[in-house]
Amino acid sequence: MLRESVRSLAEAKIAPFAAEVDEEGRFPVEALEALRGADLHAVHVPEEFGGAGADALATVIVIEEVARVCASSSLIPAVNKLGSLPVQLSGSEELKAKYLGALARGEGMFSYCLSEPEAGSDAAGMKTRAVRDGDFWVLNGVKRWITNAGVSEFYTVMAVTDPSLRSKGISAFVVEKGDEGVSFGAPEKKLGIKGSPTREVYFDDVRIPADRMIGAEGTGFATAMRTLDHTRVTIAAQAIGIAQGALDYAKGYVKERRQFGKAIAEFQGVQFMLADMAMKLEAARQLTYAAAAKSQRVDGDLTFFGAAAKCFASDVAMEVTTDAVQLLGGYGYTRDYPVERMMRDAKITQIYEGTNQVQRIVMARNLP
Ligand SMILES: Cc1cc2nc3c(=O)[nH]c(=O)nc-3n(C[C@H](O)[C@H](O)[C@H](O)COP(=O)(O)OP(=O)(O)OC[C@H]3O[C@@H](n4cnc5c(N)ncnc54)[C@H](O)[C@@H]3O)c2cc1C
Repeated sequence: MLRESVRSLAEAKIAPFAAEVDEEGRFPVEALEALRGADLHAVHVPEEFGGAGADALATVIVIEEVARVCASSSLIPAVNKLGSLPVQLSGSEELKAKYLGALARGEGMFSYCLSEPEAGSDAAGMKTRAVRDGDFWVLNGVKRWITNAGVSEFYTVMAVTDPSLRSKGISAFVVEKGDEGVSFGAPEKKLGIKGSPTREVYFDDVRIPADRMIGAEGTGFATAMRTLDHTRVTIAAQAIGIAQGALDYAKGYVKERRQFGKAIAEFQGVQFMLADMAMKLEAARQLTYAAAAKSQRVDGDLTFFGAAAKCFASDVAMEVTTDAVQLLGGYGYTRDYPVERMMRDAKITQIYEGTNQVQRIVMARNLP
């Protein structure tokens, strides 16, 4: 029922703008409005904080169905979870009530600020600094590649509070867009997910109350990594949604397109490609749903499953979308058809929330 209702909302209110959002590189305001109207913009927020209370699998299905029509729009529910999960996992009751409540009510979106210009895969090498000053913390530094930066009201920011301790000297904070000293860089010019703004975030003597620290001092990096265990499952969801969109389009196209006097769907070479696409996609979906169940139960092997689902599903999405372009021939290579956008959008799922090389490091360290 959830899938059916999200699919019909996505097809009616998000899909019609997907090509335009990509072409113009603009934020999908129509999607935000539609998702907010249906209480799907941050479905993971528990009911006690005024949210829809969706479990991990339901959240995956929402993201998957939105990504099937527009990957950029699927970053609204996905990054709202990424940005706010540190608060949900480790924040005080006051922080949860204030920020998860505001997120659930649609008063502002949440972004997640871990990466920096010199600290990508090696995120613990970050330089952004937070220094205690009485009842305040003062933040200085630069975060790079921040999804929905400038649009979001709230930012979970990881910063060094004790440089001598490396990852154990990192703490997490909630910073608001309106805090004095917060500013944003120019939007990055990207290959795909062009409707999702990616910008630098600058912190110049940003002075925030001490109770905006998420959890205890020195636990920010652990919280950031625990968050990714859960949200890599949502990137896997995004990947399978994009791949499903491409497969669905290609399936319809091959029945219409005629060459050598018949529909190209009648050629076995084409049928075998579609069979492989559907087989790989279904395998990715099953692994993603298994990982979602582990995310919900917080099973001990979630770290492996989250990394495996993200890595496998994103590689499948890249393959399936590339094959969808192939099945459309020259038409697939143009922006007159959606599979070209889907292929460009799929690429990011192999890179963010840790590249697929990093996922393999994570898996190797956590073999089941
Ligand atoms: C569109 C977009 C949105 C993003 N959104 C966010 C966001 O909202 N918040 C956020 O904090 N970050 C975000 N990121 C950052 C993203 O997570 C990083 O880009 C990613 O982790 C890789 O870091 P890097 O770009 O510095 O690459 P690098 O770490 O420089 O990696 C370059 C290459 O080296 C490889 N490599 C590095 N170390 C190893 C190793 N030990 N073994 C094998 N190979 C290795 C990598 O796999 C990669 O192929 C986003 C990035 C993009 C492009």
